[in-house]
Amino acid sequence: MQPAIDNTLDIQRIRQDFPILDQEINGRPLVYFDNAATNQKPLSVINALTRYYEGYNANIHRGIHHLAEQATAAFEASRRAVQEFLNAKHWQEIIFTYGTTDGINLVAQSYGRHFLKAGDEIIISTMEHHSNIVPWQMLCEEKGCILKVIPINDEGELLLDEYEKLLSEKTKFVSCVHVSNSLGTINPVKFIIDKAHEVGAVVLIDGAQASSHLDLDVQALDADFYVLSAHKLYGPTGMGVLYGKKDILDSMPPYRGGGEMIKEVTFAKTTYSDLPYKFEAGTPNIADVVAVKTAFEYMAGLGKENIAAHENDLLLYATEQLNELDGLRIVGQAKQKIGVISFVLDGIHHQDTGVILDQQGIAVRTGHHCTMPLMQRLGIAGTTRASFAVYNTRDEIDRLVVGLRRVQKMML
Ligand code: PLP
Repeated sequence: MQPAIDNTLDIQRIRQDFPILDQEINGRPLVYFDNAATNQKPLSVINALTRYYEGYNANIHRGIHHLAEQATAAFEASRRAVQEFLNAKHWQEIIFTYGTTDGINLVAQSYGRHFLKAGDEIIISTMEHHSNIVPWQMLCEEKGCILKVIPINDEGELLLDEYEKLLSEKTKFVSCVHVSNSLGTINPVKFIIDKAHEVGAVVLIDGAQASSHLDLDVQALDADFYVLSAHKLYGPTGMGVLYGKKDILDSMPPYRGGGEMIKEVTFAKTTYSDLPYKFEAGTPNIADVVAVKTAFEYMAGLGKENIAAHENDLLLYATEQLNELDGLRIVGQAKQKIGVISFVLDGIHHQDTGVILDQQGIAVRTGHHCTMPLMQRLGIAGTTRASFAVYNTRDEIDRLVVGLRRVQKMML
């Protein structure tokens, strides 16, 4: 964990940008600590969606009328904004998807089915979200590839020595999460990528959790693929990004067939569009893509480093306060963490914890967080997880602590 940094964000003013926060749940002001699942949307993003539907809703790329041109321009402006957000070299390297899950499936089904063969090894880690496990298992079943898993220590950090031992000339693909959604661990992805490249493997980084907390630079990382979901960075649901290096994307066959992704179709033969359209069959999520640019602008306006500093302050404060509670154990104590705290309470099921907190207006997530193998490794069925965003406050953490004392009083 980094030391707390003073920053200049006016959190009470920022909270006014998020209309959803101004409500009571079960008679208490809402405390929203489920940001790792999805964070809330500022009014500017909501307005961008409304503006699109009220002002220039039209299908893109194929139209010559004014609205179609306006929608196309806004859609493609978002692509440039994503390019800038990730510091990608070429705008053609930005593929719009429906989210992180969709992006990983695209790579597994297109790159994986085309380039991997029986006996090839794919490395993932113990702390992957199911969306970075199952697509690779499906591929292994189909192609006869072998899945290898980087182990972790009890603090929830990757064992990098073990990772290096797994690497060999048989390793053809490495797919690893940048930041764990269950534990908050920030993984040393630059090291992971460099080591994989030494044996000639291609690397995908799952940036679903990293994207709203860390500065991203796919060129500096030298990532071959990087995936994210807009709904975890103050943007809309159902929209995501696959970044891929241009030469690799060029070498891959299309994933889905349909409109938009073709140059010419005859019954005898179809030729495909160039990047990025080759991978964008069908009408995309136009409004949501357009609004993503506004989400980036919102974050840039606050300063990503300020957001990170505020969240880090919340993490330190929450860690300190939760450690005061008898019978509470924080799960995942990595040295490098974002604002996610998972914990278990002695003798109390996490589901009961979640329900009793909800009765007090506090939204947390409970369960395995789509990381069942991680829970198995840690020897637990699940955790209660509080995850922070820019609009959360220390007062809300105090409410969580009071709420947890109530849980213990009721359940023990
Ligand atoms: N990877 C990580 C680390 C996540 O936290 C999530 C969502 O929680 C996903 C992948 C899947 O994202 P989506 O459901 O938006 O496709």
